[in-house]
Amino acid sequence: MQELTHYINGAHVKGTSGRFADVYNPATGEVQAKVPLANAAEMEAAVAAAQAAQPAWGAVNPQRRARVMMKFVDLLNRDMDKLAEALSREHGKTLPDAAGDVQRGLEVVEFCIGAPHHLKGEFTDSAGPGIDMYSMKQALGVTAGITPFNFPAMIPMWMFAPAIVCGNAFILKPSERDPSVPLMLAELMEEAGLPKGVLQVVNGDKEAVDAILHHDVIQSVGFVGSTPIAQYIYATGCANGKRVQCFGGAKNHMIIMPDADMDQAADALIGAGYGAAGERCMAISVAVPVGEETADRLIEKLVPRIEALKVGPYTSGKDVDYGPVVTAAAKANIERLVQTGVDQGAKLVVDGRGFSLQGYEDGFFVGPHLFDNVTPDMDIYTQEIFGPVLSTVRAKTYEEAIGLAMDHEYGNGTAIFTRDGDAARDFAARINIGMVGINVPIPVPLAYHTFGGWKKSMFGDLNQHGPDSFKFYTRTKTVTSRWPSGIKEGGEFSIPVME
Ligand code: NAD
Repeated sequence: MQELTHYINGAHVKGTSGRFADVYNPATGEVQAKVPLANAAEMEAAVAAAQAAQPAWGAVNPQRRARVMMKFVDLLNRDMDKLAEALSREHGKTLPDAAGDVQRGLEVVEFCIGAPHHLKGEFTDSAGPGIDMYSMKQALGVTAGITPFNFPAMIPMWMFAPAIVCGNAFILKPSERDPSVPLMLAELMEEAGLPKGVLQVVNGDKEAVDAILHHDVIQSVGFVGSTPIAQYIYATGCANGKRVQCFGGAKNHMIIMPDADMDQAADALIGAGYGAAGERCMAISVAVPVGEETADRLIEKLVPRIEALKVGPYTSGKDVDYGPVVTAAAKANIERLVQTGVDQGAKLVVDGRGFSLQGYEDGFFVGPHLFDNVTPDMDIYTQEIFGPVLSTVRAKTYEEAIGLAMDHEYGNGTAIFTRDGDAARDFAARINIGMVGINVPIPVPLAYHTFGGWKKSMFGDLNQHGPDSFKFYTRTKTVTSRWPSGIKEGGEFSIPVME
């Protein structure tokens, strides 16, 4: 049994708390490693190392910090297959999808190579007689991030790449379900030239998170995960005076207008609903066809596609559409919610219950499900299922369809499929959701834009990556300067104004 470690001050460090969590291979159901769960003393050691390392790193000029990122991109490409394999082995997603997880993080690192430009301040020459005014963007100091299981490469890189290139030290508390890739990323950052102590990985659960939230030295906390924990971290972090951004759960609706290309819409729903076993915060989990005829045509196209889905372990290579879910508990929760759908009167058009894969009977595989005639009061509509379960809610009109998406408590992503530019434009303008796709089912913005939902999918004000990340990980200082020769007329007693 492999015993994983923390990565503190440039070294793999064994856990000392005596507490561990099991890390599974979701395809076989076997425990393949145990990960230490840190206590406050272990977090303290990481904070002390970060605090010691950060001032020198913050003083390195931005171009040199960017060069570490350049080298890191090379190393990610060099080790892409190794990272993807480690990721699939603990998460369960297919190898091409795991490589995509690394790639989408790598693209944020590429964006961060532009740090010398993004960190430029503003300057006003002669703001007053002999007075210049300029602003600087300075690092916060020691920062921290808490990440979910579903993107163990991309989401840590969303956070640590901008934090570190801005001159901060960063402590990552990754998901205890798949901690190996975050540890590998920390090693690669040091191979790329990052000094020890600037990026550390402290594994753990609520105890480690609470140690972050209550530590005076830690200036900011980034979180991605489920909404109840996002709310807790936002409230506690803010109450303790930290800068906090928290990204939560989702229930993404895709509206299918009567004029949509129905094959295109069905293909899009298959990928967005069932890819990664539905364990994506940008997965489409609700299809909203407008009009009975649209709904009937859509279901007719979806059923054979869903029945043809290939579910299997990542080791089967490209022949698999999606793999197992992450744990037995996740599987049980999905099965429980599916049962509530049946009990509450939804029509289970494709029944994935009882799915079993020969040779992998103990794996956490869940067959694909399609529900029709779902109504907004049902648990499968109000709750995030985070599994391969697509719900169809039939809407009579476009107004009813957009209203459903707008009234849902989550607001991460949404999409509309139509050939009507006017409807698409109206949808994009009115919808109260952070990321919108027009004939694009998973509208995850690229690294140089920003990522973030609205409503209960996001707590805080600055999004992930893109220009917002440089704002989140820096503080602005504004300097008003006048050299001694400028003082000629004695003291000034009223507030200076520019006349
Ligand atoms: P989770 O909330 O269970 O865990 C996320 C992190 O919080 C982990 O590091 C975990 O160790 C920690 N944590 C868990 N319980 C805690 C507690 N009681 N106190 C303090 N910390 C705790 O989420 P998950 O199951 O790992 O990830 C799936 C969820 O993440 C889904 O809801 C999904 O929608 C969401 N997600 C959101 C986004 C987004 O950008 N909005 C992206 C990816 C995933």
